[in-house]
Amino acid sequence: MEFDAVIGLEIHVQIKTRTKMFTAAPYEYGAEPNTLTDAVVLGLPGTLPVLNYAAIEKCASLGLMLGCEIADVCKWDRKNYFYPDSPKNYQLTQNEQPLCIGGEIEIELADASRNAAGPHRWVKLNRIHLEEDPGKLTHESFDTVIDFNRAGVPLAEIVTEPDMSTSDEAVAFLNALRNLIIYAGISDCDMEKGQLRCDANVSLKPKGSDKLGTRTEMKNLNSISNVKAAIEYEIERQTDILEAGEKVVQETRRWDVNKAESFSLRSKEEAHDYRYFPDPDLMPVQMDRARVDELKAALPERPFDKQRRFEEAFNLPYTVTSVLCPNRELSEFFEEALKTHNSPKAIANYVANDLLRELSAGSEHGEQALSVSQCKLTPAHIGTLVKIIEDGTISKQIAKEVFTDMFASGEMPDAIVEKKGLKQSNDTGEIEALCREAIAGNPKAVGQYKDGNEKAINALKGPVMKATKGKANPAMLDQLLKKLIDEG
Ligand code: ADP
Ligand code: MG
Repeated sequence: MEFDAVIGLEIHVQIKTRTKMFTAAPYEYGAEPNTLTDAVVLGLPGTLPVLNYAAIEKCASLGLMLGCEIADVCKWDRKNYFYPDSPKNYQLTQNEQPLCIGGEIEIELADASRNAAGPHRWVKLNRIHLEEDPGKLTHESFDTVIDFNRAGVPLAEIVTEPDMSTSDEAVAFLNALRNLIIYAGISDCDMEKGQLRCDANVSLKPKGSDKLGTRTEMKNLNSISNVKAAIEYEIERQTDILEAGEKVVQETRRWDVNKAESFSLRSKEEAHDYRYFPDPDLMPVQMDRARVDELKAALPERPFDKQRRFEEAFNLPYTVTSVLCPNRELSEFFEEALKTHNSPKAIANYVANDLLRELSAGSEHGEQALSVSQCKLTPAHIGTLVKIIEDGTISKQIAKEVFTDMFASGEMPDAIVEKKGLKQSNDTGEIEALCREAIAGNPKAVGQYKDGNEKAINALKGPVMKATKGKANPAMLDQLLKKLIDEG
């Protein structure tokens, strides 16, 4: 018997706001444990929650980016459980009336060659709701230590429909979602810092059937590659069970990164009854439709829409747009540079290749790659550089040196060219003399060229470029050499 896998994901994203979901305590990753708390976070008697409206707006923006319907009213429920990560013994969440309903996200499956666009499809979402992050427990041999800094941080939970069927789709989904969330300024999505976390639900059903099978839920998947590995492991495990004629048990499983295996945490029978009920301390939130329209109008263009526009409007190849467009800063930097000099192909190449290479240069010795806003280059630097190449002021060869220099110093390229005397030489007299020397010095190449081997002429260019330190105008050099050989 053959099976189809069914996959649904639940993604938790920490929303970047100055303060927590229901109190003015701030949050910052890596702070000294238990320094970013207050009476509300610690659930001390007599404290009351105060809603952080910025978190609601950011979550609504995310929902709008994903085509969700924004509810007229959302409300807060208590999810009751007894565990040391929550001093209140309940988590505030939106069980019955989430902020964002439905929605879908465009994903791109990798093309085998990875140099061309792969197939695109839309994955359906069920909902996005807001809740508060619990504290962080760390188990150290026989001790468990608790850090409440994370407790109360606004968390958006994005729940997909069971609408994916391969680990590759799940990976494509997470990449697309990450890009969108970063685009919308909601989170930096650093999985190592716990800013984005993913649980994966997997079931199997007989091929072609539309009745869903029993699912398991995998927790503790703290990287995209873990999500992929855990899904593949689970599909194999369930296939073995069903092929042996046994039944899959509905349960929650924990992925063990080191063993690359998952283990049962609890079965459905042991599942909690959370006794959800409406929080008596928080009013339902009535969404202001005019404000929702404002948020919608302020959304950035979505990455795949931008990619299609770049390909059509600027005739850029996939290899370039697939580097520029998933990164909002980089793509905006590119478009800004066009205002200095409208040469999309050349500018896109400098941004996607040279700029990115310099930004990540440090990562070879273990440093973090810089972001565009952290470097000294502005869009005008690259626009000007391409302009002075195209108007013949400098050669492409010299431009490499100028690029490295301007990246390090932040000086404008034309100023560097002036200061270092790097202007391309258009001095016909000087270049002609050097060409004559080159022709005299390499009769073999001259002979080959005369016999019809066009490329042989390149051997004559080297010495001239060397003597002029790369500053000879390449087009002029080519013309001159051909003219002198033809005449001679
Ligand atoms: P719960 O209330 O237990 O969290 P939900 O119905 O909200 O369950 O589903 C949680 C996640 O599990 C969703 O992402 C959903 O798409 C996924 N899911 C539900 N049923 C299945 C199934 N049979 N196979 C795979 N995934 C499923
Ligand atoms: Mg759930």
